[in-house]
Amino acid sequence: MTSISTNLEELTWIPRPRLLALRRLGIETTEDLLTHFPRRHEDRTEFPQFPREETDYSICLCGEVIKTSVRRFGGWKKIFEATLEESRPNALSEPLVCRWFNLHYVQKIIATGQRLVVFGKPRMRGKRICMDHPEFEVIENDEEISIHFRRITPVYPATEGLSQRVLRGMIYRVLHEFPDSGWHAILPNTLAGGERSDAIRAIHFPGSWEARDAAREHLVLSEFFAMQMLITSRRFDSSARAGQAHCGSGALLDRFLKGLPFELTAAQGKVISEIRRDLAANYPMNRLLQGDVGSGKTVVAIAAMLLAVEAGYQAAFMAPTQILAEQHYEVLRRWLELLGIHIALRTAARQEEIGPLPLFAANENPGSARLQRAGDGIPPSRTFIETESTSGAHYSRRRLPQNAGTSTLQACAPETLPLPDGPHIIVGTHALLYENVSFSNLGLAVIDEQHKFGVAQRARLTAREPAPDVLVMTATPIPRTLTMTIYGDLDVSTIDEMPRNRGNIVTAVRDTSKLGEVLSFLRTQLEKGRQLYVIYPLIDESDKLDVKAAAAEYELWCERLRPFRCELLHGRIPAPEKQQIMDRFRRGDTNALISTTVLEVGVDVPNAAIMLIENAERFGLAQLHQLRGRIGRGEHKSYCILLSSNQTKETSAKLTVLERTTNGFEVAEADWELRGPGDVLGTAQSGLPALKIGDLKRDAELMRRARAVAMSIFEMDPRLEQPENQHFRCLIVEQHGQSFSHIS
Ligand code: ADP
Ligand code: MG
Repeated sequence: MTSISTNLEELTWIPRPRLLALRRLGIETTEDLLTHFPRRHEDRTEFPQFPREETDYSICLCGEVIKTSVRRFGGWKKIFEATLEESRPNALSEPLVCRWFNLHYVQKIIATGQRLVVFGKPRMRGKRICMDHPEFEVIENDEEISIHFRRITPVYPATEGLSQRVLRGMIYRVLHEFPDSGWHAILPNTLAGGERSDAIRAIHFPGSWEARDAAREHLVLSEFFAMQMLITSRRFDSSARAGQAHCGSGALLDRFLKGLPFELTAAQGKVISEIRRDLAANYPMNRLLQGDVGSGKTVVAIAAMLLAVEAGYQAAFMAPTQILAEQHYEVLRRWLELLGIHIALRTAARQEEIGPLPLFAANENPGSARLQRAGDGIPPSRTFIETESTSGAHYSRRRLPQNAGTSTLQACAPETLPLPDGPHIIVGTHALLYENVSFSNLGLAVIDEQHKFGVAQRARLTAREPAPDVLVMTATPIPRTLTMTIYGDLDVSTIDEMPRNRGNIVTAVRDTSKLGEVLSFLRTQLEKGRQLYVIYPLIDESDKLDVKAAAAEYELWCERLRPFRCELLHGRIPAPEKQQIMDRFRRGDTNALISTTVLEVGVDVPNAAIMLIENAERFGLAQLHQLRGRIGRGEHKSYCILLSSNQTKETSAKLTVLERTTNGFEVAEADWELRGPGDVLGTAQSGLPALKIGDLKRDAELMRRARAVAMSIFEMDPRLEQPENQHFRCLIVEQHGQSFSHIS
């Protein structure tokens, strides 16, 4: 007896080669096969009569072959024609001519006197009504015909070695041999009525379009509900875990904020208080901080870390790339050492620890305690001895005048001291997760640019005991339905406001043929003292050819911009050298950086106000927006020039989005409009099962409903202990092969 989990190998009527083709689609069991949902349906219900004019859509007709003929054209090519007559002709009936070009096998199948069913677009060819290359079948037995024609017919995602007909036939047969009782009910009645088995039948072979739509809604809701149950259980799982409060009094934070050369935006303030509430609570924080590039997420991260440090804990700050980690390290040192915070850098390539600066400056000269703005071009203090030690670990401490340190610390902020020993903040790449970095007392982990990390990496952090608070930040704004799905297990804070002092960014798309004009514009900007990024779309950072190409382009740019100084930056340059290149650029020693997308995230040099992106058509919208976020960071008016030599309709639709808006959310919406959500963020990254039928964009409303119901179930019964919730527990565990500490 076939059941939902029967392996298709047991069905003897399926030939082996087909099993292999099915396996390529990931189909092994009857359930896999029956949840291989149609991509679309075709209206192959039989047309009431033969058409008298052409139509733009395909129709299904049935008739008798009254004549066949073969005509030659262009030497050896052949056209085979079969003329059909309506089964019940009337005085006005016109015959239909079906034509096949160079398909010899068709000629062997079709003969006069047969009944034929055809599906295609009728076209006027001279005075005749013709169908070219219709799908067809010779009617021998009416039941068989009814699988493929004379109905609303499913069309499946294609695969090599498996035709639509074969696949459709198999699904039809399995559906008929299959007992309806095998399916688990997935949906609570509050979401939708009806049986899953009926919905499965109707999605493949619907009796009407309404039935198809109802079935689809049922199945999409089931899929979304299962997904939201998984996400929500993760969310409740982590908040059910014991956590600790990691929040100091805020005195250290106040001092930090007072020293900033700018006021926080209202949005930054709001977000900091949301984080503060989480830090103070005794469950682990799992919060996503969303904010467009340049909205000032780093300051918020620092604020959170200071609260944790003040409470006596360590904080970790993780960035996706070496360059970014180094940059954060510099920023943190510049801003926090004055407060007596001890910061360490841990990346695969460089490990460094520097003790806190003495705090006497704050006492002797209140003005000098004012913090420098990050990335303002002022070099980091050269008093540090910067050496690269081969052994990796490296310490260099600036000697404190005897007693100066302690006395000043006490004078400045007695309520915040004593801070524990050892680094208070550890900055690094995600190597921090894997290498044996010993956190002595990790209270807060901040992950910058979360979209570059995977869910698994995040899980590694949250799984620690005792659970630290986790703040993940992303500059990839995504529409709400996606947030709810991909980050559904997190609380979300959004910085929806840009700092006021920003010079705006003008974006212009230019054809490569205009390079001459572009160059003279660049020169006038360089003469005004601005700095320039030139970005190349290198597909693969490890590709030698690409690196060579970049090097060649670099020579060219040196020529073009002479006497301004250029440097080349790409992923294959060793880390310490990369760092020096960035330092020289930050200091203004270099005027232009010819770079690959290693610059993509986070780099912050306010005087770099000009960006030229080569072959802009080869980047995605989100990536271009990220890249563009490197400029417009100072008070200068900034310019982003998108050079493109390939102005197809799609490219210009894409690139003009950037001319039109600098708002990341609008760019994301447009991206989602142009490409569809599947591509905008891969589900692989999200660690969630791939969607089989639901469409995150089209079915956004259904996702919202599924989420609301899933949330209410967990709110009433967080551990799914109630008898009526037992099958939901099974659903989570079975469907996703996952169990949770609190749902055992
Ligand atoms: P992102 O959100 O892209 O990570 P950053 O945190 O790097 O942005 O901030 C970009 C720049 O804006 C930095 O130079 C930072 O010092 C500055 N900045 C942050 N907040 C403000 C503010 N409220 N007013 C002015 N400048 C700010
Ligand atoms: Mg950033």
